Amino acid sequence: MDKVIYLDNNATTKVDERVAAKMMPYLTERYGNPSSIHSFGGSVMPDIEDARRAVANLIGANFRNKDNCATEILFTSCGTESDNAAIMSAIATQEGRKKIVTSKVEHPAILSKCKELARLGYTVSYIGVDNRGRLDMEELKREIDNDTAIVSIMWANNEIGNIYPVEEIAELAHAKGALFHTDAVQAVGKVPIDMSKNSIDFLSLSGHKLHAPKGIGVLYIRRGVRFRPLIVGGHQELGRRAGTENTASIIALGEACKIAAAQVAEEVKLLSSMRDKLEAELLKRIPKIRINGDLDSRLPNTSSISFEYIEGESILMLLDIFRICASSGSACTTGSLEPSHVLRAMGLPYTAAHGTIRFSFSRYNTMEEVDTVLEKLPPIISRLREISPYWSEK
Ligand code: PLP
Repeated sequence: MDKVIYLDNNATTKVDERVAAKMMPYLTERYGNPSSIHSFGGSVMPDIEDARRAVANLIGANFRNKDNCATEILFTSCGTESDNAAIMSAIATQEGRKKIVTSKVEHPAILSKCKELARLGYTVSYIGVDNRGRLDMEELKREIDNDTAIVSIMWANNEIGNIYPVEEIAELAHAKGALFHTDAVQAVGKVPIDMSKNSIDFLSLSGHKLHAPKGIGVLYIRRGVRFRPLIVGGHQELGRRAGTENTASIIALGEACKIAAAQVAEEVKLLSSMRDKLEAELLKRIPKIRINGDLDSRLPNTSSISFEYIEGESILMLLDIFRICASSGSACTTGSLEPSHVLRAMGLPYTAAHGTIRFSFSRYNTMEEVDTVLEKLPPIISRLREISPYWSEK
């Protein structure tokens, strides 16, 4: 079977072999419960703390506070849990404030939670974006008010890759006494992040987007910010998140963060060179295509391209014959052929939104793979346009 050309790294990534090797002993040999009195289990706890330190190092967070307690890095089960926990904690601790400000282009992990809270009587303000997916900063400033409990704006968008001015938005939120959360699930490991240089209160990240396994995430909680747990039960994570620690995955995430910290600067160059070549060559070879997003401020690995007058799903199926994996703009609304909420918020014409494909790169991709896509994709587009009732060369 041909080798897979995996260009869907914003959906999930391959576990780095160094990460898999590091986690394995915690599944088969060192499987004791880290909270045990016996040393077989208890001896695992320092390794969890080492992993916590590695996560903290990658994002410039504090590892310990003055009482030598673990702070700022809270292990969760995934990015979705971290997002939910931040919002729920903020509305619980910001009593009397009944408003949430977010954007139209957030991940469903935020949007669905906000929808639920709206049904419970909270006001939710969804800030719009322009045709390049850039936030309407004037609307944002108007909407953050003295009733706002939390503002949640993603660091980087999963579909178009836009990077948002989250450090500035945190200041705007604080000026009105609101907390600020950022969903950095797509940003961590792809762009440098230094929490010691901003005032963001909460940040979510997810292991499976940075070459650790699925099912492990982190919520960063700035020192001094009050936190109400989402999951209650045992006293793990200093009482902030109950449930026996997912030891092997925590160790894996620590290792993935060490690797990312050592490689992030180099990887940015590698990822953007592959993305830029793909885009530049496709623009030369295929008429009527557009690159979506803010070309001046976006992730180095993400390319959202609209092939006008054809269906993204048909492109994906034909790419799949060559074992090339990408995703369409409607990835989050599987089962429906509606364009994604992100493309709709940007006001992309129907004929472009439907033919949108996201290519997302990782350290495992190569220029040879880009060349293969450049060879296989143009004939696919021509073929589909020939049978499209909407296509006209003129
Ligand atoms: N936030 C963003 C921006 C994402 O891209 C994703 C996953 O696609 C999530 C949150 C959810 O993360 P997880 O799959 O770890 O729950």
